[in-house]
Amino acid sequence: MTSSIDLHCHTTASDGDWTPEVLVAKAAERGITTLAITDHDTFAGYRQARETASSLGVNLISGIELSVVWSGMTLHMVGLDFDPEAPAILEAERIQTEGRQARAEIIAQRLEKRLNAPIDLAAVAALAGGQQIGRPHFARYLVNEGHVKSMNLAFSRLLGAGKVGDVKAMWPDMETAIHWVVESGGIAVMAHAHLYRMTRTKLRACLKDFKDAGGQGLEVAYGQMDSNQRGQMSALAKEFGLLGSCGSDFHGPSRYGLELGVMPAFPTDVPPVWSVWQ
Ligand code: AMP
Ligand code: MN
Ligand code: MN
Ligand code: MN
Repeated sequence: MTSSIDLHCHTTASDGDWTPEVLVAKAAERGITTLAITDHDTFAGYRQARETASSLGVNLISGIELSVVWSGMTLHMVGLDFDPEAPAILEAERIQTEGRQARAEIIAQRLEKRLNAPIDLAAVAALAGGQQIGRPHFARYLVNEGHVKSMNLAFSRLLGAGKVGDVKAMWPDMETAIHWVVESGGIAVMAHAHLYRMTRTKLRACLKDFKDAGGQGLEVAYGQMDSNQRGQMSALAKEFGLLGSCGSDFHGPSRYGLELGVMPAFPTDVPPVWSVWQ
């Protein structure tokens, strides 16, 4: 189904295919009335889309998807509805952007060693349009240079979890990222927890730490989620007293077969994040 609320998607400010303006225009066309652009470690796309959103009558919520580390794993934390002028979130954006740049240099060095071939970081940066460099840009570069046949293979062989290009040393711990969002008046949401390869016990320990640090939300309706996963996330939201969030995690028409706004129905028994900002 297409939801009229989509609180998780990407633009060219990170690894999405559409510019912020185009994304907002498509959202309006699709009947989305409340939208949060949640680019990786930046809200440049949100800033860029504000004018278009107000002219099209789309309620654009501030958003960011922060890369964090918890217990040695990279997790994603969505920040929503923060004050975009707040010093804490602006500092977060600066730190994360520098972290991404430093990480890109390390990824390039490690790929060079592994492939025994030069990696042109400037070309990777160009694929990122001069904005946040992510592993998908490296994947695209590796395909373009003929090192691998597809983006998927680039991830499964070189960039995915535990592979040579999986560099996470620069990410802050989860608590730090939650504080950035909360200090800026926003809501910290645990992103796509059903996709982390954690045991139930570990996931519950993670959500306890998340809640204790001031985290308030959990994604309970998400683009790539089956009804079983939705049930599990709803149950965890209730157990930990977390508000439900929803989003497609749309990156572009060609990625994962996802569409903007498309996700399972929001569970009726979980209070939504927007109940606290409306
Ligand atoms: P990064 O933010 O640089 O760590 O890169 C992670 C991003 O890579 C995720 O947000 C996804 O958008 C993307 N990604 C993960 N796995 C794949 C894959 N198999 N193919 C294409 N993109 C992927
Ligand atoms: Mn992404
Ligand atoms: Mn994510
Ligand atoms: Mn995302």
